[in-house]
Amino acid sequence: MRYAETGYHLEIDLSRGNIEKVETDQRLTELHLGGLGTNAKLLWDRIPPETEPFSPDNLLIFGTGLLCGTPAPGANRTIVTTYSPQTLFMGYSMMGGFWAPELKYAGYDKVVFRGKSPHLVYVWINNDKVEIRDASHLKGKGAIETAELIKQELKDPNIKVAAIGLAGENRVYMASIEQGRSSASRLGIGAVMGDKGIKAVAVRGTKDINIARPDEFLERCNEVLRYIQFRNEHPIKNVEPIFEGLGSPQEMKLVDEKWHTTGFMWGNARTRRKDFWNKEVEERWKAIQESVRTRLISCYNCPMKCGAIISVPGISTYMMKCYSKLTYTMAAYSDLDFGFKIAQRATDYGVDGFSTPQVMAFALELYEAGILTDQDMPGMPSETEGRFFWLLDRIVHREGIGDILANGTYWAAKQIGKGAEEYAHNNIKKHEQLPLKLGMLNPVYFLMYCTGEKANITQIEGQFPQEPFARREDREEFVKDWIQVPDDRFKQYFLDWEPRGEKSNPYYPTIPMACEIVDWMEKMHYIDDAVGVCAGLSSFPLKPPYHIHNYPLIISSALGIDLDEEGLNQIVRRNRNLVRSVNVRRGLRRADEKPPEDHWKKRFPELEEKLLDAYYEFKGWNRDGIPKKETLQELGLEYIIEDFEQRGILKDEQG
Ligand code: SF4
Repeated sequence: MRYAETGYHLEIDLSRGNIEKVETDQRLTELHLGGLGTNAKLLWDRIPPETEPFSPDNLLIFGTGLLCGTPAPGANRTIVTTYSPQTLFMGYSMMGGFWAPELKYAGYDKVVFRGKSPHLVYVWINNDKVEIRDASHLKGKGAIETAELIKQELKDPNIKVAAIGLAGENRVYMASIEQGRSSASRLGIGAVMGDKGIKAVAVRGTKDINIARPDEFLERCNEVLRYIQFRNEHPIKNVEPIFEGLGSPQEMKLVDEKWHTTGFMWGNARTRRKDFWNKEVEERWKAIQESVRTRLISCYNCPMKCGAIISVPGISTYMMKCYSKLTYTMAAYSDLDFGFKIAQRATDYGVDGFSTPQVMAFALELYEAGILTDQDMPGMPSETEGRFFWLLDRIVHREGIGDILANGTYWAAKQIGKGAEEYAHNNIKKHEQLPLKLGMLNPVYFLMYCTGEKANITQIEGQFPQEPFARREDREEFVKDWIQVPDDRFKQYFLDWEPRGEKSNPYYPTIPMACEIVDWMEKMHYIDDAVGVCAGLSSFPLKPPYHIHNYPLIISSALGIDLDEEGLNQIVRRNRNLVRSVNVRRGLRRADEKPPEDHWKKRFPELEEKLLDAYYEFKGWNRDGIPKKETLQELGLEYIIEDFEQRGILKDEQG
């Protein structure tokens, strides 16, 4: 009997219309857990690195996390993996909501798509009955509308539908896959789904998941729930409201947006508007939010309610995801009601709420600079909000200049020329990032931005506070119940971290400390992404209910193995090195690992080189960021060594 997982994948060849239920190898679960880990293994084994993202040979993998469908709170993530058209590297994006548990209940851990359908289809998974169905009547429909139409067609409101909108159909590089109040948004995952001709994947499952040691497992889950309740009743002190609680984060409850709106830059801008937030804005935004927010909602088996149903008069009701509330508003420097309106259209089109506003702001900057002209923007309205709607429509339809912008700022700038590349100034690994624009280089964030392969800082950071607390007594208070630290020395790192002086950024945390902190944060994300637990309850917030000390016990009791912290560390390192190796085989090198030049005002080239050298060494990678032979050997990844040697990637001196 298989525990926690179903032990089956669904393999669907869209070119041939072939559907297979395939039993999986349990040893792979022990080596990689599930989700991201086993997705990466499939990508490594089955797609040659020369494969183009829009090739029929590219795979699109919907992989559930190992604990999805079990009673583990917040275990509801689907990890969607493919080669990204935006970065050309491995793209993986998480989707919360309800889809992953439903797939497990239908009897599958993953759905693996290959090939391309000659016409638009949707896939209907109803326990053992799986069909590829015609979707020509859904062509051009929005992602939200598609889900509703499929539920009506199949006459079951409990079906969970992951769908693309027009953006995915048109292979827009920012296209997302939308599901309920969640989406897999980053890195053009929806464009690959559209390229394969899949409009939606609808799932209904009514089977059970087995747990190896149910009493022990349930007790662990109850501990997690008790801790969530405790944290909800005892918010963290001395931090901004956004950091006080758990979740992803509580954007739909919060109205105090001072930290987001004045602390960072948004859109494609180069300076911060430090005076943006004031009492008047706060009151106006509060009134707007409360008038459109019908109710707060959660993902499957989670008490946190991070999302909300939004009803803006005159437009269809939709579910707001996390930061989408702010990203359009801040890119346009507009009002919150604009954000709520455009987010509805963007969600139905199915686009990434992080990248899309940046691409539009980039286009407007080019227009202001005379690089794009009225000829490129015929009929564009004169006011900013209208311009954003105008651009959004053209991008998802790939119409006129929208056809170029639909490829994201990196590729669009190359195509536009005339100096446009200077304006694509927020990219890392060819992908739009949150434009930070802070003063002093932060060594921890420098490393995360450089080396993260999820290409989204919010999916790498967490656990360790983003900045030092001004007063030592507040730091002492903070570390008192910091049970999540892997080791007590992290408490000392934080206690000694000062806003100014000798022990402040960029030289403190010191290089070795920065390596350890980044490694800890990344490790937690890699565990979440393998087991399918939402980062909002684990790797992302301060002092979360899941941590390195209770995860081994939770996983062990679910799976029926005896995993300790060291064993879990080893699995995570294996997954991390596997993901890196997939990308190294695709050409990832040190030169790709640099944050934008203007990310911080004060830069320290010598220190930055040393940081990267030290982090690579810490990870067991060579000076070019390639895993060393001994690292791969230690993790049982000899097949990677063989491949790297054949390709000349690893040479005598480890590459
Ligand atoms: S913490 Fe929020 S985003 Fe995460 S599973 Fe719970 S409701 Fe969903």
